[in-house]
Amino acid sequence: MDQVILKNVTKHFTTKAFGKVTAVNNVSLNIKEGECFSFLGPSGCGKTTTLRLIAGFEDLSSGEIWFGDKPMSIKDKNYYLPPEDRGLGMVFQAFAVWPHLNVFENVAFPLRIQRVNKTDMAAKVKEALKHTNLSGLEEKFPSELSGGQQQRIALARAIVTNPKILLLDEPLSNLDPKLRENMRFEIKDLQRRFNFTIVYVTHDQAEAMALSDRMLVMDMGVIQQIDTPTDMYNNPSNRFVFGFLGLSNFLPVNLSDGRAYPYGSSSVGLNLEIPPDFSDDQAILATRPNEIHLVAEGGYRTRIKNRVFLGDSVEYRVDIGQAEIRIHTYEDKGFKVGDICGVEFSKVTWYPAREDGSDEERERRKII
Ligand code: ADP
Ligand code: MG
Repeated sequence: MDQVILKNVTKHFTTKAFGKVTAVNNVSLNIKEGECFSFLGPSGCGKTTTLRLIAGFEDLSSGEIWFGDKPMSIKDKNYYLPPEDRGLGMVFQAFAVWPHLNVFENVAFPLRIQRVNKTDMAAKVKEALKHTNLSGLEEKFPSELSGGQQQRIALARAIVTNPKILLLDEPLSNLDPKLRENMRFEIKDLQRRFNFTIVYVTHDQAEAMALSDRMLVMDMGVIQQIDTPTDMYNNPSNRFVFGFLGLSNFLPVNLSDGRAYPYGSSSVGLNLEIPPDFSDDQAILATRPNEIHLVAEGGYRTRIKNRVFLGDSVEYRVDIGQAEIRIHTYEDKGFKVGDICGVEFSKVTWYPAREDGSDEERERRKII
């Protein structure tokens, strides 16, 4: 069953200083019951605004939001259910733990709003603390606890009302990398135990890939792709998505006489088949660093510019025409800086070279 449904949701903001921003642009999406679904995209792309619309903290400019067959916001009918009646658990950055309340009171807060009686409150808080590994810390204040424990207070508060849907906005962004990884597993564990539907906002692609059943990538308020992490990584629908997931190389080429010539290398072409449906005379070739190989003989001839040992692999940098390309190899073939080498591609994704002029708008959205 679809549990969170957005139909053509749009949200504009207008500010004196920056003018108009379409924070969320005609977003439609269906999140299934029990699914962990992530919104991924750069700062300013509209992730938090979409989540706040789902929570009911913002009114829509147009569109509809439903939880299953229950309407939450319908702009055309001016229908709007306030956040406290939507039955959600939330961890928003702005909702950090309250320093002047102890752990018990922080977690009990949503129950006090619901006027839950004392006995039930104690039982529910106890249960939430147990599931977030905070049992016994009821009387402590947040400042007496570690960063990870503080984050768990926020999680305990989100689950204490036993919601069906959890909204999490960058819940791990204040933690150090090691702790972040551990907390990912804890969130997954909680989800398995309670079968929450989770809507998870992050700008960290590794986090989105690790947690999500499905995810979307957003750019300037518009959904670029909705897919499983694996399918999105293997088949990005456009250059923006390719560049946002994992490490990437973009190599601009001119196409003539059925060959691809890197910019700045007009006489030496690459040994690649041009896809039959590709009729432009320029292209951008997208590759991952582990889809390019260094060879002693043959390939596109160039020179090793840089070599860095990464522990489980070695990263080389070479120039192909005007573009610098990163190559990761897991078996060290012993190339040194300055050596002549050949470059071969095992997988290349072809994108049109047209510039869409959006970088300026992306920057503007970040600073507002
Ligand atoms: P993200 O969470 O992906 O970083 P946001 O949803 O916070 O992005 O913001 C999307 C765009 O909407 C940004 O350009 C932001 O500045 C703008 N925006 C968000 N909230 C407001 C607001 N209350 N008033 C004006 N502009 C806003
Ligand atoms: Mg945000």
